[in-house]
Amino acid sequence: MSESITEEKTYKPTSPNSKLDFQSVWEYDSAPESSANLEIKDQYQLFINGKFVKPEKGRYFKSINPATEEEITEFAEATQKDVDKAVKAARKAFEGEWSKISGKTRGKYIYRIARMLQERAREFAIAESMDGGKPIRESRDVDIPLVAAHFFYYAGWADKLDYAFPGKKPEPLGVCGQIIPWNFPLLMLAWKIAPALACGNTVVLKPAETTSLTAMLFAELVKDAGLPDGVVNIITGAGQTGAAIVNHSGIDKIAFTGSTTVGKIIQKSLAGTHKKYTLELGGKGALIVFEDAAIDQAVEGIINAIFFNQGHVCCAGSRLLVQEGIADKVIMKLRDRMESLIVGDPLDKNTDIGAINSKQQFETVNQYLEIGVNEGADVYQSKCEIPDSGYFIRPTLFTNVSQSNRVVQEEIFGPVLTIQTFRTADEAIEKANNTPFGLAGGVWTDKGSKIFRVGKELRSGVIWANTYNKFDPTSPFGGYKESGVGREGGLHGLAAYVNLK
Ligand code: ADP
Repeated sequence: MSESITEEKTYKPTSPNSKLDFQSVWEYDSAPESSANLEIKDQYQLFINGKFVKPEKGRYFKSINPATEEEITEFAEATQKDVDKAVKAARKAFEGEWSKISGKTRGKYIYRIARMLQERAREFAIAESMDGGKPIRESRDVDIPLVAAHFFYYAGWADKLDYAFPGKKPEPLGVCGQIIPWNFPLLMLAWKIAPALACGNTVVLKPAETTSLTAMLFAELVKDAGLPDGVVNIITGAGQTGAAIVNHSGIDKIAFTGSTTVGKIIQKSLAGTHKKYTLELGGKGALIVFEDAAIDQAVEGIINAIFFNQGHVCCAGSRLLVQEGIADKVIMKLRDRMESLIVGDPLDKNTDIGAINSKQQFETVNQYLEIGVNEGADVYQSKCEIPDSGYFIRPTLFTNVSQSNRVVQEEIFGPVLTIQTFRTADEAIEKANNTPFGLAGGVWTDKGSKIFRVGKELRSGVIWANTYNKFDPTSPFGGYKESGVGREGGLHGLAAYVNLK
């Protein structure tokens, strides 16, 4: 798209233009990761009670590789009855074998899963990139290592729950329904399943309909790990399947990560029930760069904040707030750096920005690009080549935007950054807090005192200082306002899966 947009309304910095010649300097040969050793079945069934079973109505839906628009495989569509079967299997396991084994043994199972994930890391990384469009460098170096790290971390807690909650007696909640999104498919599975199992719960998990592949490979791994039947159940399907899990009376807790729109529907359906819930929803993170920041590092941080995983990141730094005196310089450096980003084949090890996850999301991001232009923003897109087929969008900047613009207020969930300026710390804080969201934010400055002052006043669950998008299993994650309720990760993540007596 938007060649025309780029030409029509290009931001012109007042400082001298870059003299870097990207056309001749930045040439890479392709370095594709081979998918030859990844075995993808033609069709995947539901994983219920330790077995792969066909869906009640025999219906399947296709999974598309967003980089090629080719069909990868098909997944079973779980009906209400299938959900019921999975919940009953999870209940039986919870009341049976799983509740009788010690925390130490539970920990051993979780360690085993972690080690098996490491052994099969390459396979999982390739599957994640093929099914979801993210660059192999990210699935290989970020997603899958973090998945294993979460299982290792929570394995360690399984026999130490009494120490996690001194003076209390932690008890598992029971059967946990877990619904996850498509941006970090296996990582979100790990965030959900690892703490749930560590605390002695059983689970029924549903991956997102566009990215179910690694969850089904994980189901195979769970079977190989010899976990007792019914402890982990993985069922595939779209929103109705998710709703059937949420509304099932046999569920004790819902853990949901996804859009604020669906989160609100879920919260309404759970009101007045016994079910506990954690909701991790949308975001519109502000990244505040002060004049005293190390500018080159800050620019690298901005690139990582917004273009990591094509911007499909709920905590993405999708709003840059830059102090007025350095704005032109930062924007010029940002544009230079964007020219060196390679957009293309997710399986190529050189690729920085892969494919937009689905046709639907591709259309959504493109709509926002038009909205931004219609709202009067200036748009700049890098001039890199993009493949002819597949869902690709060039990294994009919007300048000349105001706080009330939709592109500033709403979550775009794509490689699109809005840029505003500020003069004082108070103004930056005011602007940063002025959206319905409160998931994440960042501060770049040379002064520790500014980090503490601004960090304290930002109404965001996560604040990064002089870095961005860094994750660790020991660290809690979650939002304020419309970004959700509850925390995942770390000790807080354990608390969400126990009743304390
Ligand atoms: P996005 O809008 O980013 O695609 P969604 O919030 O729609 O994200 O999806 C996140 C997860 O929620 C997916 O697994 C999806 O199938 C599931 N889902 C969608 N609608 C519902 C619903 N009404 N109830 C429960 N789960 C749902």
